[in-house]
Amino acid sequence: MHIVCLDLEGVLVPEIWIEFATRTGIPELRLTTRDEPDYDKLMKYRLRLLAEHRLGLADIQRVIAEMGPLEGARSFVDGLRENYQLIILSDTFYEFAHPLMRQLGWPTLFCHSLEADASGRLVNYRLRMPDQKREAVRRLKDLRFTVVAAGDSYNDTAMLGEAHAGILFHPPENVIREFPQFPVTRSYSELRSEIDKAFVARAPA
Ligand SMILES: [Mg+2]
Repeated sequence: MHIVCLDLEGVLVPEIWIEFATRTGIPELRLTTRDEPDYDKLMKYRLRLLAEHRLGLADIQRVIAEMGPLEGARSFVDGLRENYQLIILSDTFYEFAHPLMRQLGWPTLFCHSLEADASGRLVNYRLRMPDQKREAVRRLKDLRFTVVAAGDSYNDTAMLGEAHAGILFHPPENVIREFPQFPVTRSYSELRSEIDKAFVARAPA
């Protein structure tokens, strides 16, 4: 049995925090772990900013719904699901991804979660487990699935390395240089043919 594991942001949907910062006009929300390497500090800062701007979960989801998936993502996902089992492995939160999952036809998603109070104000976040992308692939392999994984950035490289085959999609230059072992794709049709090729290469003779 074949499973495709895909990253979400930068592969099927825009970078959620960056796009959200643009759409709401709150530039401080563009900060990433490159600016603040302490993830806990970064998330608490983001939640504080959302509260200061009085953006509750419902407002946030409205903005995210308007972003929509990247062009062509829905038919790429539908096509993959005709031939393979698809699992999206992401470091986003279920509550953010929900409006986008609807537009992608509800594929399976493993990610983290947020905690809102009764008024819809976001008060905390919960990471499901450390290094969850790689752990998920490792355990799918234990279940005797053949796994091909694709992602666009640094936080995907452990998952790509763990999978039977890993593929980069629209990666930044520094990731291409640092991980020359992964093929680089720049369109959904290229990515699809690399995925097909990777499974064929691993098929028993
Ligand atoms: Mg990504």
